[in-house]
Amino acid sequence: MRIIFLKESTFMHKPFYHHPENPRRVLEVKSSLVSEGIAVEEESIQRVDKREALKLARRIHSPEYIDYLLNLSHRAPIDIDEDTYMSRDTMDLALSFFYLAYKYALESRRVFLIGRPPGHHAGIAGATPGVSSTGFCILNNAAVAVYGFRDAGYKKIMVLDFDAHHGNGTMEIFYRDKILQVDFHQDPDTLYPHTGYPDELGEGDGYGYKVNIVLPRYTGDDLFAELVDMVENLVVKYSPEAIVVSAGFDAFENDGLADLSLTEFSYYKLGLLVEKVNVPTVIVLEGGYGIGLKRGSIAFTKAFYTHQLEYPPLTQTPRSAYRNTVETVKRVLEKASRRVLESG
Ligand SMILES: [Zn+2]
Repeated sequence: MRIIFLKESTFMHKPFYHHPENPRRVLEVKSSLVSEGIAVEEESIQRVDKREALKLARRIHSPEYIDYLLNLSHRAPIDIDEDTYMSRDTMDLALSFFYLAYKYALESRRVFLIGRPPGHHAGIAGATPGVSSTGFCILNNAAVAVYGFRDAGYKKIMVLDFDAHHGNGTMEIFYRDKILQVDFHQDPDTLYPHTGYPDELGEGDGYGYKVNIVLPRYTGDDLFAELVDMVENLVVKYSPEAIVVSAGFDAFENDGLADLSLTEFSYYKLGLLVEKVNVPTVIVLEGGYGIGLKRGSIAFTKAFYTHQLEYPPLTQTPRSAYRNTVETVKRVLEKASRRVLESG
């Protein structure tokens, strides 16, 4: 696993008022990994062909959305919507992170790309139907990595999204496709973007390939571990040829924007799940706004270097929500297994 850091993320796409999605985030991830002795390589937007990147953006998103962003960018600094800002250099940085996610997938690499802005809420035409905003996201970096793997010839591609918020943009883009998408997120009744219910199973060819795992508020390491084991069962049987990971660290206890209570134990377990499948993998940074950026990113990344660490489970899920959650996830996984394992 190579850790790649997009260095311009530390000063481009800067909010013009107080905003949780800001350059400090990537610096915290980087300095945390470096302090643990993990090697971090630098990438630069200088190495990105912006015209190629724009062409790619028009494959994943509607051309109208891309034109809208480019036009808006002339009027920056400006708000795209109630959650998402744009500065003068936002498009340059967004297109670069997006393009690198594609390039590393096309080259069949195993990388963790640390950059900004995040992407998993960006749907085909921006905010998905019924959702108020693109939630700090501009272009969908995870989706374009899937395209990279497809263009490289892979058929069985899986997306794992463990950001606290549902990856509604990515889900919309592949809702009718045989891309196995497993998305862990806080109960949509209680958190933006209020999508990602268990009965959202995909449509057409994609039916059964969308696995929404709803975590009750204050989910801790105990329940999360049980759910990851259940998912691992499906993943091992499916045996994907390539994996894209939307890595958000905002489900960490007291990270700030969500109400989940995961700790190192859970993130290390997620890392091990990805590591053990051992296929080309592109991991892109999504959310994470506080303590999760430090402690979550270290635990997750360490799984790619050693399988021997023993983080203790620190947090417990309220009993009232525990059994129902396991039963619901079991039902969703049964449906998914039937479709995914039979149709290959
Ligand atoms: Zn999030």
